[in-house]
Amino acid sequence: MMSPRELFLRHVAQTSEFPMLVEVARAEGVYLYGPDGKRYLDLISGIAVSNVGHCAPEVVQAVQEQAARYMHTMVYGEFVMSPQAELAGALTERLGEGFDRVYFVNSGSEACEGALKLAKKFTGRTQLLAFHESYHGSTHGALSVTGAPDLKEGYGPFLPGVNFLHFNDGADLAKITEETAAVIVEPVRGEAGVVPGHPCYLRALRERCTEVGALLIFDEIQCGMGRTGHLFAHQSYRVRPDILLLAKGMGGGMPIGAFIAREEIMSKLVKDPVLGHISTFGGHPVNCAAALASLRKIEGERLLEKVPVLEGIIRDKLDVAEVKEIRGRGLMFAAEIGDFDQVLAIIHRCVDHGLITDWFLHCDTAVRIAPPLTITPAELADGIDVLVEAIQTIVAGVPA
Ligand code: PMP
Repeated sequence: MMSPRELFLRHVAQTSEFPMLVEVARAEGVYLYGPDGKRYLDLISGIAVSNVGHCAPEVVQAVQEQAARYMHTMVYGEFVMSPQAELAGALTERLGEGFDRVYFVNSGSEACEGALKLAKKFTGRTQLLAFHESYHGSTHGALSVTGAPDLKEGYGPFLPGVNFLHFNDGADLAKITEETAAVIVEPVRGEAGVVPGHPCYLRALRERCTEVGALLIFDEIQCGMGRTGHLFAHQSYRVRPDILLLAKGMGGGMPIGAFIAREEIMSKLVKDPVLGHISTFGGHPVNCAAALASLRKIEGERLLEKVPVLEGIIRDKLDVAEVKEIRGRGLMFAAEIGDFDQVLAIIHRCVDHGLITDWFLHCDTAVRIAPPLTITPAELADGIDVLVEAIQTIVAGVPA
């Protein structure tokens, strides 16, 4: 009989020539455990998903209780399911004015798809603007607005009418015109290697969109749900988008996403045509129950208040000569090394030493740091010590 590792390598579709191949037997809090009992500290949260830690008891309980009560009962938008309704209420309450309606989907890419369609329908325009080195997902529409030619190789043609701007560059704002349906942007960029938007740039972007009647879409799929130390990244900038995208960390480990907008915009999905956007599983009650439990845990344990101390630990400990630049916000960081082979060697050395880290889609010269928000200062300090040891050893020994 083949082992899970053999089955994985032989029958699970592969998307990389160098998968990490960490075998997981169970996960709890900030740790993953292999079948041999080896413990790994998770410094990346399954890429910004496990914000409340792995198998948070509150989330597990919510999932178990809701799964036993009812799972799928009807496609999106017909039946009243209390976990879905309560989650929509909780999110809109925390988001405040301008966010009355939540459309639940199953992933980040899907949230992006829904938002692009909605922006076209609402504005009656077809042009979409996005940013170089952005990432919005792997489906056709989301990939169309992703600014990464290498990721798109061989998959064209893409959506027509999509153009790209340079991030944090005020000069490019003039390209947003009366023809523009929407501008989609990550206020804190993830896969570009953690690049926060400049506050004055994001404000100018907002003003320009308002001026020409283009919708502003904030993709907070990676930087939302507490990741930057604020429940939603835009709240720290005091810039409000017209449509907000969430996913990843939202479900406490379960798959759920959302696009959120004001009533005036979202009402476009109701008629002409009726069922303007359709999803069988969107707003699945078990995933909504998990998301609600996760949100309550972030607030109940005041996890956001603890982020500045944790951020300080990352900044202090990474302040070594071998790290060329530290970029980040809250618990979303990149340690720039400057060389892919060294980054890969660092990642493998960390895995050997029981620490999970990673690189970025558009920035393979930096190491990713995005631990669960539940990590303690001592756990984080230990993890960063292991990372710094790996960085120093590899940079000294592997030629750039
Ligand atoms: N937007 C951003 C900013 C992301 O980081 C990601 C996932 N890395 C996505 C969209 C796509 O999300 P998903 O993989 O759930 O489709």
